[in-house]
Amino acid sequence: MLDFDLIVIGAGSGGVRAARTASSFGLRVCIIEEKYFGGTCVNVGCVPKKLFYYGSSFKKEFLNSKNYGWNSSELSFDWNKLCENKNIEVSRLNKIYENLLTNSNVKIIKGRASFVDSNTVNVDGSNYSSKHILIASGCVPTKPDFLGGEHTLSSDDLFYLNKLPSSILIIGGGYIAVEFASIFNSLGVETTISYRGSRIIKHFDECLGERLADSFIKNGIDVLFNSNVEKINKIENDCYSVVFSDGSIKTFDKVISAIGRSPLTENLSLSNTSVVLDKSGYIVVDNNFKTTDKNIFAIGDVIGTPELTPVALKQAMVFVNNNFNNKKDFIDYTLIPTAIFAQPNVASIGLNEKEAKQEFTNIDVYESEFTHLKESFNTNKDKIYMKLVIDSKSDRVLGAHMIGTDAAEIIQGIAIAIISGATKKDFDETLGIHPTAAEEFVTMRIKKK
Ligand code: FAD
Repeated sequence: MLDFDLIVIGAGSGGVRAARTASSFGLRVCIIEEKYFGGTCVNVGCVPKKLFYYGSSFKKEFLNSKNYGWNSSELSFDWNKLCENKNIEVSRLNKIYENLLTNSNVKIIKGRASFVDSNTVNVDGSNYSSKHILIASGCVPTKPDFLGGEHTLSSDDLFYLNKLPSSILIIGGGYIAVEFASIFNSLGVETTISYRGSRIIKHFDECLGERLADSFIKNGIDVLFNSNVEKINKIENDCYSVVFSDGSIKTFDKVISAIGRSPLTENLSLSNTSVVLDKSGYIVVDNNFKTTDKNIFAIGDVIGTPELTPVALKQAMVFVNNNFNNKKDFIDYTLIPTAIFAQPNVASIGLNEKEAKQEFTNIDVYESEFTHLKESFNTNKDKIYMKLVIDSKSDRVLGAHMIGTDAAEIIQGIAIAIISGATKKDFDETLGIHPTAAEEFVTMRIKKK
């Protein structure tokens, strides 16, 4: 008899949800984790990143509070305090995740799993067999390949800096790069972004990327477009000289590489199975998350779908339901709400203007730009920008896009309407909550020409 019905490799967002749900259906489930419970999201991703984001947001609030009559004494910031509290919270969540698994009757094995064959994994010399095996091993930061790349830090390292640097270079233009640029800049670190393209956050609507870059520049971040790092030389600790491909040389305390993430498969001994990887190294799966090996399944970041915790959680549910509960659920990846926790916030759901133009014959675009009421007394005002993309024929809202205060919180609600098929008329007939920034989404009347 096999030891388990299901072995899950990786106790991150996807793995924990799959293990708990499968166990609730009566399967004998085991989960194997080599580092930390809760995976990337809890330990070196969403949660600590958002805590750092909150920590870095206060400065602007304190400064604006003076306009409202507050007179706080001299501002000071203690990086170690923020890190200490962040670490306490992460440890608390680790324990909660471990308890969730134990209370769900899932057997926990600590260590690194590697395949012996398609029904067996090995952990520290012991073999465990199972009818089904689920890989939920996630991704890790991609290592840069230029000379001196070993001197760069990854996003994982940023959560454990023992002091704030005085200057940093962040290489990359995706959401991790801009979120950390925003955090460090707001905490007073001289911040530079080096991005190889001409528009940061390129997967978002053009208007958002342009406005985010403008706001960064206005707030003191040096944004280098069409910029490539050729080489990094270590001068001494906390002093690195960076040679760019245009021949310029600049010096920074720390250099951060945020050039993307790569699937974590190299430690799994997949050559002992029939699992196939695509050309970027992601595990190939079908709609039920079955790999090319009939006993082995995969979900989460390791399969190359949008790298977001709610996506991994949804995949875990569909994997369990379709394979062990006779369901035929399907995930539509076109309508995924997503946000960037920078200052200002960026958030989107659905098609951007360019994508909509490619898919639909006629579209209407509504946009609005305004100053948040809270910023009324401020001299350095950040504007809010919103855009709605509509299919002219059916009047259906195809996408909503926003940059500005609370964009992530606002777009979450808008996403329900769009996923439910709301039309522009539905938006127009909805009364606003006044005075809010969000009400602008239901009061846009003038089409973009
Ligand atoms: P993971 O959570 O990465 O879990 C994989 C687990 O598998 C890890 O714990 C790893 O140790 C373990 N493992 C790997 N190989 C083995 C092995 N051989 N044996 C045993 N264990 C193994 N998403 C959002 O939705 N919102 C955000 O704001 C957000 N912010 C982010 C910020 C950063 C800096 C990063 C890096 C990511 C962020 N994400 C965010 C993405 C999110 O964290 C991931 O999409 C999510 O964690 C993916 O879950 P997963 O289950 O696929 O993998």
